[in-house]
Amino acid sequence: MNTRRQFLTRTGLAAAGLVYSPLCADQRDRKLETRNPWIYHFKIGEIDAWSISDGFMHFGQGLSLMYPVSERKKMVQALKSHREPIDKIPLYVNVLVIKRDKEVAIFDAGFGGVPNNRKGWLSEAMKKIGIKPEQITVSFLSHCHVDHIEGFVADGKPAFPNAALHITPEEFAFWRAKEPDFSLTKRNPKSIPSMVKMAKRNLEILNPQKVLTKVGSELLGGAVTVEDGFGHTPGHAIYRIKSGAEELLHIVDLAHHHLLMFQNPNWAIGLDNIPKRAVQTRKRVFAQAASERTRCYGFHLPYPGLGVVTGNEKSYQWKPERLEW
Ligand SMILES: [Zn+2]
Repeated sequence: MNTRRQFLTRTGLAAAGLVYSPLCADQRDRKLETRNPWIYHFKIGEIDAWSISDGFMHFGQGLSLMYPVSERKKMVQALKSHREPIDKIPLYVNVLVIKRDKEVAIFDAGFGGVPNNRKGWLSEAMKKIGIKPEQITVSFLSHCHVDHIEGFVADGKPAFPNAALHITPEEFAFWRAKEPDFSLTKRNPKSIPSMVKMAKRNLEILNPQKVLTKVGSELLGGAVTVEDGFGHTPGHAIYRIKSGAEELLHIVDLAHHHLLMFQNPNWAIGLDNIPKRAVQTRKRVFAQAASERTRCYGFHLPYPGLGVVTGNEKSYQWKPERLEW
């Protein structure tokens, strides 16, 4: 028995059902000695696609990060009934790369080369699949949070020097404003100044590559459509990728958890910038994806992030796709 399990048994927490985890304590607490850039190849019609794990982390704040506060007891019940941890929120970081003819596109870029074995794996994975940074022709920045933007910059320069960087005008204007408006967010106010500084610094470096791309725009010969995912940030984009009869909807940050935001789409993470709008957007997109049985991909859903949304407006479920070789 390991130390953590001994501790839990001693304190009776485990027996009281207050600590739940589908992973054994060894897995959750071990320090990663080696980096682990998972790569999963799949197809969207004729398009080659890779889901790359840039890393994995937990939000140690657990359910104190989730709103509304009045619903937290129900959230605990939902997590317990699925044997999910209630003390930490798991967060996967999945980067989508697609190749269509000579065009190679990347959708967000992870944390970048951070000195941490748990994240920043993208560049190693790209080497493994044989795509050099110079070969990326198109890049999409859904929004400017650190786990999405930092990987676009390496050593103070653009990481993908030949790629146009598509960002919605709303997202760009928000972060470039003298004082971006955080009046509606439940985010810890202390975290805001450093986040704004990071986003502004990165956008400055990426400015020569940026293309302000409105919702409804089609890229890669019509294969990618930029759609409205507004709310998590003011210009948060989601993407629909089509090839022949097949389609993939990249829902990016419409859900940070595979159970909570699906079981009740009103349950929201405190990191949303415009909370009401984020919930409205999630409901609209989930309703459409469920009724049209759209194959989806989530930036923060359990790796490799592929699945479908089932259910109806009362309660949805995330059904992960089985891996196929
Ligand atoms: Zn995110």
